[in-house]
Amino acid sequence: MTEPRDVDAVVVGAGFAGLYAHHRLRQLGLTLQGYEAAADVGGTWWWNRYPGARCDVESMDYCYSFSPDLEQEWTWSERYATQPEILQYVNHVADRFDLRRDIQFETRVTAAAWDDAAQRWHIATDRGDSVTARFCIMATGCLSAAKQPEIDGIDTFRGPTFHTGRWPHEGVDFSGLRVGVIGTGSSGIQSIPVIARQAAHVTVFQRTPNFSMPAKNAPLDPESVAARKARYREHRQAMRESRAGVVVPMPEESALSVDADARETRFAAAWETGTLYGMVSAYNDLLIDRDANDTAAEYVRSRIRDIVADPEVAERLSPRNHPFGTKRPCLDTEYYATYNRDNVTLVDVRSTPIVELTAAGVRTTTDEYAVDAIVFATGFDAMSGPLLGPDITGVGGTTLRDKWAAGPRTYLGIATAGFPNLFTVTGPGSPSVLVNMLVAIEQHVDWVAACIAFLRERGVGAIDATVEAEDRWVHHVNEVANLTLFPTANSWYMGANVPGKPRVFMPYIGGLPRYSKICDDVAADDYRGFTLTPASAPEPAPSASRT
Ligand code: NAP
Repeated sequence: MTEPRDVDAVVVGAGFAGLYAHHRLRQLGLTLQGYEAAADVGGTWWWNRYPGARCDVESMDYCYSFSPDLEQEWTWSERYATQPEILQYVNHVADRFDLRRDIQFETRVTAAAWDDAAQRWHIATDRGDSVTARFCIMATGCLSAAKQPEIDGIDTFRGPTFHTGRWPHEGVDFSGLRVGVIGTGSSGIQSIPVIARQAAHVTVFQRTPNFSMPAKNAPLDPESVAARKARYREHRQAMRESRAGVVVPMPEESALSVDADARETRFAAAWETGTLYGMVSAYNDLLIDRDANDTAAEYVRSRIRDIVADPEVAERLSPRNHPFGTKRPCLDTEYYATYNRDNVTLVDVRSTPIVELTAAGVRTTTDEYAVDAIVFATGFDAMSGPLLGPDITGVGGTTLRDKWAAGPRTYLGIATAGFPNLFTVTGPGSPSVLVNMLVAIEQHVDWVAACIAFLRERGVGAIDATVEAEDRWVHHVNEVANLTLFPTANSWYMGANVPGKPRVFMPYIGGLPRYSKICDDVAADDYRGFTLTPASAPEPAPSASRT
């Protein structure tokens, strides 16, 4: 039997995080092996090709900042980029920086096991590859493990079914068809208006109405693009210094400190911004005080009533089960107005739950709805899901699945005790999904690259978070979350969308600047909270020629 090939680092995933990891680690002179389950780069943007898929962070903010040249040469066409345009951008970046050369596509990592004596990860794939690596970088994304609905009879249905997160590359023609859509999160809310324009009829099965605001998408005008490009560097810095990785004015006052008219004016202006953050940050206490939150929730409900002609349908669309902003809100184009169309029916499957799929359609406790095709817009096993897909085994044979049985435990969201040299980019316990993902990814990958450079310089073979540091971090993540209304919602942030998943608020809500400072301080203090073990064998000298 031949020895497995050895590299300095394996990078799992070739989305925004994985590609940037290749770029940064190659700059350090590391030998790399990347694996990606998809046939090409793009991560979530490779898979999520459903009709209407587009980003809800502004395109000029939702792109890499690491290269000023890249920033200047790429020009987005719309305020909110479509999935095809984002994928074009990712491909451009991969070509421009030659990032595909170490990546093996259509290959899923199935196992990673730590060998303490050799201070290396043994990594195996579904194509039979076996490789050893000093470092394993999990760049597997937060929303990449698509979740099928737990509904009986899926195999009984005689028409085609599609998951928004695994959409066929050739597209789907719904012309003349009766389409059922299950799920009204961001993916459902983006796709329903587009499907309704093509299909003969759309029946939407809604379990929980969500809060959605108009995106006000439009082509970008050349003057504002030029103005942004002229001061892109300052803007990027301001993004990094902003709580959510996007520049938003932070209000000083409580929603309860002003009268109803003043609130109405402020919310109306926020609604018109066409951003996710406008409404959420209209006042400083919307996410921490239930009464303040109710004012924003009621404002959104009033807008739904303005748009939707049938008052009963408007009421069904009005979220009342969770505080505004505590499940991820959505940005839409004509979502609520779509329910004014004759060919769209809204079914409330909270009061009359889906019992099963039949050969002909969807049966609820009260009715059967005949459909020709079904779209599952049912989301993801978020954050921890992609990390628990492969069998990951750490020191002493402990598996990550066992360690995280009661919920993910990490130090800074980037490392987990007992799994040395394993880095989780935007992992649970980091700001990740609560901030602009591109800013979160760059901050994490930069930190990992600096950490690896430090370890190599000092002849350190293994870095492992201490259990004490991890316990303190987990406590802090919970403590900060519990100051907010977030844990009161049954959201995917809490793992509540996956039956049996532990209810733990997974992202770190302390804000990006505070989090980045903590990470920087840990690094400056020679990686406080980590145990550093000298290399058991001398490390080859770093050399750019090895790349
Ligand atoms: P999601 O927000 O988790 O929504 C899933 C929907 O499916 C929910 O309405 C859920 O209802 C429903 N559902 C799940 N299982 C069901 C069942 N068995 N019966 C009936 N309904 C069921 O998923 P998503 O829409 O894919 O979005 C996930 C996240 O991805 C977003 O929050 C966002 O962060 C990201 N995303 C971003 C964009 C963008 O940038 N524009 C686009 C798409 C997604 P319950 O709420 O009752 O569980």
